Amino acid sequence: MNTAVAAHCPYCALQCGMTLTPREPGALVGPRDFPVNEGALCQKGWTAASLLDTPDRLREPLVRRRRGEPLRPAGWDEALDLVAGRIRELQDRHGPDAVAVFGGGGLTNEKAYLLGKFARVALRTSQIDYNGRFCMSSAAAAGTRAFGLDRGLPFPVTDLRDADVIMLVGANVAETMPPLVRHLRRARDRGGLIVVDPRRTATAEQAALHLAPRPGTDLALALGMLHAVVAGGHLRRDYADARTTGLAQAWRIAARWRPEEAERVTGVAGACLRDAVELLAGARNAYLLTGRGTEQHSSGVDTVSGWINLALALGLPGRAGSGYGCLTGQGNGQGGREHGQKADQLPGYRRLDDEAARRHVAAVWGVAPEELPAAGRSAYELLDALGAGTGPRALLVFGSNPVVSAPRAGHVARRLAALDLLVVADTVPSETARLADVVLPVTQWAEEDGTMTNLEGRVLLRRRALSPPQGTRTDLTVLRELAVRLGQPASRFPDDPEEVFDELGRASAGGPADYAGISHRRLRAGEVLHWPCPDRRHPGTPRLFLDRFAHADGRARFVPVDHRGPAERPDPDYPLIATTGRILAHYQSGAQTRRVADLLRAAPAAYVEVHPDTARRAGLADGDRARVVSRRGTVEVEVRCVPTIRLDTVFLPFHFPGDERANLISNPALDPTSGMPEFKACAVRLAPANGE
Ligand code: SF4
Repeated sequence: MNTAVAAHCPYCALQCGMTLTPREPGALVGPRDFPVNEGALCQKGWTAASLLDTPDRLREPLVRRRRGEPLRPAGWDEALDLVAGRIRELQDRHGPDAVAVFGGGGLTNEKAYLLGKFARVALRTSQIDYNGRFCMSSAAAAGTRAFGLDRGLPFPVTDLRDADVIMLVGANVAETMPPLVRHLRRARDRGGLIVVDPRRTATAEQAALHLAPRPGTDLALALGMLHAVVAGGHLRRDYADARTTGLAQAWRIAARWRPEEAERVTGVAGACLRDAVELLAGARNAYLLTGRGTEQHSSGVDTVSGWINLALALGLPGRAGSGYGCLTGQGNGQGGREHGQKADQLPGYRRLDDEAARRHVAAVWGVAPEELPAAGRSAYELLDALGAGTGPRALLVFGSNPVVSAPRAGHVARRLAALDLLVVADTVPSETARLADVVLPVTQWAEEDGTMTNLEGRVLLRRRALSPPQGTRTDLTVLRELAVRLGQPASRFPDDPEEVFDELGRASAGGPADYAGISHRRLRAGEVLHWPCPDRRHPGTPRLFLDRFAHADGRARFVPVDHRGPAERPDPDYPLIATTGRILAHYQSGAQTRRVADLLRAAPAAYVEVHPDTARRAGLADGDRARVVSRRGTVEVEVRCVPTIRLDTVFLPFHFPGDERANLISNPALDPTSGMPEFKACAVRLAPANGE
């Protein structure tokens, strides 16, 4: 009889605990008591076993020697020899940066680490970034700037249970992380849940106070609230004096943002804004949490800084029972940004331009520090440069589907098609894999060991529960095999996850995200370990900043920021603002969830959510087919009329392929600090599908 294995959901950053019982064929998901989800799962979690035997699972490498030819099955040696040979050719002709790497926030810590090392040591390329740039980069940059360290939640999720007031900004957790809602119940039931979102989402429905700003104006709202805190006598002066710096500079800007001025820009009534401040300031325990809705903007870093300034003025961060945090999205969104697959970073969350960091990591890798390349392009800049001018001629994609998930997706697909070599390692023939010259079939969750770091910085061991399909290999083995073909010693690229994790620990030792004390063995033994954990006797750090923040002086920083609005404003040609997001049944580009029958039945196609009055003005009614047109492209989808969205705003889910890709219209205007594209606000017009 098969026994149940303790597992974690393969999708989002909650990493809900579940059991997985192998069956023939496949496996069965069951509930498991785990503090984050207490046995609850969303419909994606309950159906996650379907991913293991999806009918079009890739089981053998596919290659094509010329564009235009169909992909054909090949042996592993043929496929890997082809990839290594083309890489050598291109690098001999154009230099190391001719080859680029694109990673993913769903890769295990071990994979993210080895991918960064592979790029910098085996390929010697600076051209590596990952899809987490599109997810967490603004919150990460703002967190680092304010606190000296970025960990999504610097406290366990379960701390939220005791809060009187919780303010969620741009986070529809009732759809994206349903089990999290159980931890918000106390605040909700006491009338202490505040939601900031341009739509009255399933989460906003539960709130005592829903503020619906015009998309792209959140920073004006945060500034107005900071003004109301000070003007209302709610500033925690004692806290600000003892634990922060920079209040005076931040206030110099916020002083201009009276709530009525914020109302003019955001559309949120000044009285509502003051009510929200009164609720927060009057709470014994309060949390302010941000999500992608407020972060995915060309001013995303400053916007998050605006929210952090507000939290600091209220004295929340680093106080037991209160705090600020950002709700990480992807499964390993936290670990994925710590181990070196980011263009500007080395393992341990170290900066690539820090000489001491380069020396430390180079010593672990057995190379000279000067051999490590400099920082490369951020994700969209990298995709935009492919196959053009001095841009990379080859791209290796691991755990990502940029044809659907990147901004200005039509352009990105054309850039991928212009490459001399596109290699995709995946479990299924994603939209990106279908464009590839070489497709490498890899193993997935439950078929391999590996660690993930969830949104609270807790490191989790995901165990192998069943044998992978014949013909697949782990990403670690693929990287090792390629590295060896490129002249690296096999010993430098271990493919045993435990060995890779131990090396990752050494590479991270002494860095901001220190994993040196964590091991597979400790995790197997059931220890609960949040980083930093610098040695094998250290108990881990579930709560950060209680005594001091991570800046050298121990103080958090108010950052002076001002509102500048989205890069593209509505005008007579494009009079509406389009925003995008996730829905309950699907995850990210949908490459996995669109293959799960129950999930596809629940949400089979994309749509555009529109206020009935807005639809009427565009000559549309509920159920009609509409074109949503921006300066970059057109999406053709069904109209869903709802009174719960602003009159000037339309919403599209971003999980769907082809002509329904929301990212055909999204704006790649980038935040100057984080490189985050403006997914959440672009100017569009709406028209009947057969009317233009
Ligand atoms: Fe999985 Fe996230 Fe749903 Fe939990 S909330 S079951 S981790 S998708």
